[in-house]
Amino acid sequence: MNREKTAYIGVGSNLGNKYENIRQARNLLHKSSAVSVLEVSDLYTTEPFGNVPQEDFLNCVFKIETSLNPEELLAFLNNVESALKRERTIHWGPRTLDLDILFYDDLVIKTKKLTIPHPGIEKRLFVLIPLNDLIPDYIHPVLNKTCKTLEEELRSIDNSAVNPSGLFL
Ligand code: AMP
Repeated sequence: MNREKTAYIGVGSNLGNKYENIRQARNLLHKSSAVSVLEVSDLYTTEPFGNVPQEDFLNCVFKIETSLNPEELLAFLNNVESALKRERTIHWGPRTLDLDILFYDDLVIKTKKLTIPHPGIEKRLFVLIPLNDLIPDYIHPVLNKTCKTLEEELRSIDNSAVNPSGLFL
């Protein structure tokens, strides 16, 4: 068996019972013998990105431990998304559940299917804010800055609303 690796998963939902979607995603991940969910950030309410009118998102980050390699982990996350009937009709549109691999160990890769660290991290407060509940001092292996610094830099140019939801898993 592969050595267990630590990874961080960005989680978002803006369709149906968002809290329940995220709770079920956590349970489905944890049910797999190849994945353990070690920690969950606070849950945040986020105004949607892009021009499609839609409901607010609920966002958080999972810290997981896994024996899956990155490609296997992506395939597994896609299965979990499908199990929760993610709707992929409109780009940037509503989604039952979105799961992104943010970091995987200190790995840096870029293939057709997979970019790690996730290229959206430094552009999205709804990723950085929950990530900083868990790993503010972690140094982004490409940008060479802590997650806390990335959040501070983005906050100075992005005033999008990411608010504590008062919900916790
Ligand atoms: P999205 O609609 O934003 O969830 O994009 C999903 C697609 O992005 C997947 O089919 C992946 O092939 C690709 N992708 C590239 N890098 C990543 C990553 N780090 N985590 C998740 N999906 C990724």
